[in-house]
Amino acid sequence: MKVYLDNAATTPVRKEVVEAMQPFFSEKFGNASSLHSFGVEARNELEKAREKTASILKVKPSEIIFTSGATEADNFSLKGTALVARKEGKKHLITTAIEHHAVLHSMQWLETQGFDVTYLPVDEFGLVDVEQVSEAIRKDTFLVSVMAANNEIGTIEPFEEIAKICSERNVLFHTDAVQAIGKIPMDLKDIDLLSLSAHKIYGPKGSGVLVVKENVQIEPLIHGGGHEFGKRSGTENVASAVGLAKALELAEKERESEAKRQTALRDKLIDGVLQIPNTRLNGHPTKRLFNNANFSFSFIEGESLILRLNEKGIAASTGSACSSPNLKPSHVLLALGLKPSEAHGSLRLSLGRNNTEEEIDYVLEVLPLVVESLRKISPFAGQ
Ligand SMILES: *Cc1c(COP(=O)(O)O)cnc(C)c1O
Repeated sequence: MKVYLDNAATTPVRKEVVEAMQPFFSEKFGNASSLHSFGVEARNELEKAREKTASILKVKPSEIIFTSGATEADNFSLKGTALVARKEGKKHLITTAIEHHAVLHSMQWLETQGFDVTYLPVDEFGLVDVEQVSEAIRKDTFLVSVMAANNEIGTIEPFEEIAKICSERNVLFHTDAVQAIGKIPMDLKDIDLLSLSAHKIYGPKGSGVLVVKENVQIEPLIHGGGHEFGKRSGTENVASAVGLAKALELAEKERESEAKRQTALRDKLIDGVLQIPNTRLNGHPTKRLFNNANFSFSFIEGESLILRLNEKGIAASTGSACSSPNLKPSHVLLALGLKPSEAHGSLRLSLGRNNTEEEIDYVLEVLPLVVESLRKISPFAGQ
């Protein structure tokens, strides 16, 4: 059996999305900036994709900036607003200790450029304290960035409350909504900037959006022909935008039914895995994404677990795919207060629309045996 349980890392492009994108490679290949009919056709389809994306997110089409993914969108939102803020003498940003590296490493780079960053801690479940955000805001704070839901532990943050506070205090609010989009309802009313990625919702890789509300001043990072309202130059990737819009439309359409179905599978998985002795669930018991389960198993290494599961046909992750190869304990799990040894023995199982109950049963059959066999050979067991 082949069981893919790494849907937080990426998802397969769904058939409807492939079909929607297909014409834009060879048949409708025009440059959306050209004045002839090939160009006009491409432009029309690009703008339709923009309108569809905007209407699902309930923002204006002119507030949708297509990017090469969420990494670019996160970089753009933080660095682009920082360049404007510096001219106004503001240099402080607020974020959390559990952000994706696209946000954390952008923040760290901004620190090397003379900006100040406050990294807020989280509680044992991965929740950010709204009060602490409010207290951290200074006179020179220009932006707060808090993810909507965490990619490793699935904790859903109180991002709407934080957005409201920021709006009242006249501070920009950015959220990395990559894992939340298509999983929880999102109200963008008080959100100034929002990043999303197509490949986490059954769309193509290298395709994302930064929502930039019209009140937001942002400096472009990529200069050129003035595409995307002068905010992000480069010949528009029409296929990518069409694929993203289609993926988003379908994700929203299926959101409630998939929430019900995957919650049941996830809970069965969690209940079953917690039967294994010396196992803990990481993240929040209820405020968590319907497709996320993250565990720590004492005495074993997550990496060995992943490899053993892979031999049994189960694809899982130790946490964030980007940081897996370097074997450093996850910054998210450490922020929850786990000891490095506990953080090392972690496993993320993230469900998707293609997973079935039979697959969950199979995992529950295999995983306890794999954990037991690894513990038998573990030098840490019994300590
Ligand atoms: C995957 C992911 C990203 C990066 O998105 P890309 O489109 O792969 O660049 C950023 N933030 C979170 C929370 C993610 O899960």
